[in-house]
Amino acid sequence: MAVATEHGLFIDGAAVEPASGELRDLSEPATGELLARVAMAGEADVDRAVAAARAALDGAWGKTPGTERSRLLHALADAIVANRKELAELESRNVGKAISSVKAELAGAAENFRFYASAIATIAGRSNPIGGSLLFYSQKEPVGVAAQIVPWNYPLLMATWKLAPALAAGCPVVLKPDPQTPLSVLRIAELAAEVGFPAGAINIVPGDGPTTGSYLVGHPGVDKVAFTGSTKTGGEIMRLCSEPIKRLTLELGGKSPNLVFADADLSDAVPASVWAIYASAGQSCEARSRLLVEQSIYDDVVGRVTELAQRVKVGDPLESDTQMGSLISTSHREKVHGFVEGAREEGAEVTTGGAIGEGPGAFYPPTVIARAGNQMLAAQEEIFGPVVTVIPFADEADAVRIANDVKYGLMATVWTGDPGRGHRVASRIKAGTVGINMPYTAFPGIPFGGYKQSGFGRELAVETLDLYLETKSVVTYTGTRPTNPFGL
Ligand code: NAD
Ligand code: MN
Repeated sequence: MAVATEHGLFIDGAAVEPASGELRDLSEPATGELLARVAMAGEADVDRAVAAARAALDGAWGKTPGTERSRLLHALADAIVANRKELAELESRNVGKAISSVKAELAGAAENFRFYASAIATIAGRSNPIGGSLLFYSQKEPVGVAAQIVPWNYPLLMATWKLAPALAAGCPVVLKPDPQTPLSVLRIAELAAEVGFPAGAINIVPGDGPTTGSYLVGHPGVDKVAFTGSTKTGGEIMRLCSEPIKRLTLELGGKSPNLVFADADLSDAVPASVWAIYASAGQSCEARSRLLVEQSIYDDVVGRVTELAQRVKVGDPLESDTQMGSLISTSHREKVHGFVEGAREEGAEVTTGGAIGEGPGAFYPPTVIARAGNQMLAAQEEIFGPVVTVIPFADEADAVRIANDVKYGLMATVWTGDPGRGHRVASRIKAGTVGINMPYTAFPGIPFGGYKQSGFGRELAVETLDLYLETKSVVTYTGTRPTNPFGL
């Protein structure tokens, strides 16, 4: 049963009608049924949201001291925890994602607000001895209005990764969710208003990327842009930011390797590797979608991964024991399936999955592509679905070469029984995060972000605050002689 609800934009502290007048029907990916009707922002709405953010910067939000921002971030974390049941169901139905994953994401979202509530204490300038009767100090100022654009795969988590450091730094935000998945962040904005964030500090403008999104990025009232999404769109956004020299950070795609050496404990490595691709149905930037396996254990590992892939519980996202829900849409499923067909044509073997089943909903089975080379499209391009490509390697040097032979560099996992090798390989892999005998990827406090075409800038960390701050140097003279450089 689907209950349709209507949602406005969130601007200047309240839900508002769109100037565009556009309401869009959202359907539930797992059932195809109508879920909600949501306002879509156009250019006039973006103008209004940016104006509200600028007014907040010059007004109540700009005057809110760090201790009070910290209290508000904690209050929002508390509100997320208190409303977790409603938020989890909303997110699970909107994305088609297993509610078990969504619950973990919600806990992470609350923790992230708490982390930045504390990290505010690190915002400080300094004064260091320069000599020559010069007195200098620096101070940190919010960079200004932040435009934030997030994708559909973790709508709530990605929005909170972006909101928390910006708000901690004192920046007001205009956030554009993906038009398919605006529900949870609209609710977060309401909760923020309820706990006391001043009007204009948080504005949410759901809308299409190439129109509303690019208008927001190019808006002269926006000082900083933070984007999570595909590498192609990241490039477009970089172009839009280049002429006005806007501050920019990009969290982009990945094609992350998972290296299994013959000396690894396979009873951990195999089930963890299965989780690392099929969690979130593979619609994860950090999905370990290339499984690199030492030649001597290749057939064994392909057999074990195939067997465990068939045991992943796929089904109704709202059932508590479901491990994988549906994909975001049937059109996205077509794209995913196209990669699998392409791999078959290139001569790879699909050992399980790889077929679209009967019935409603955008479901796709856990799929394993074996006998694959790293040059195949399925090994180079981000599939963003439950598809792992298993590639053999000869030795450690070959493993590192293949791991790095891709345009992305977001994440990597290494499985080995040799501790020295774990650290040696970690130092040679070009990726923002490397796990050793551990599949988990994101924790508040640990920098998260990419090398190469996976983007630049780090989220989740203390250093993220600096991406929302300017450093101002103030210099004066403490000497007794007149300052008269020309001797006039
Ligand atoms: P996408 O780039 O098409 O869309 C992402 C967001 O950008 C959406 O909100 C979209 O509306 C907006 N957008 C699209 N075109 C735009 C434009 N021209 N100007 C401004 N905004 C625009 O990405 P997608 O394919 O929908 O989402 C999945 C992608 O996101 C994957 O490639 C995935 O790896 C990436 N991702 C990266 C991370 C990370 O942290 N590195 C996290 C999650 C997802
Ligand atoms: Mn897209």
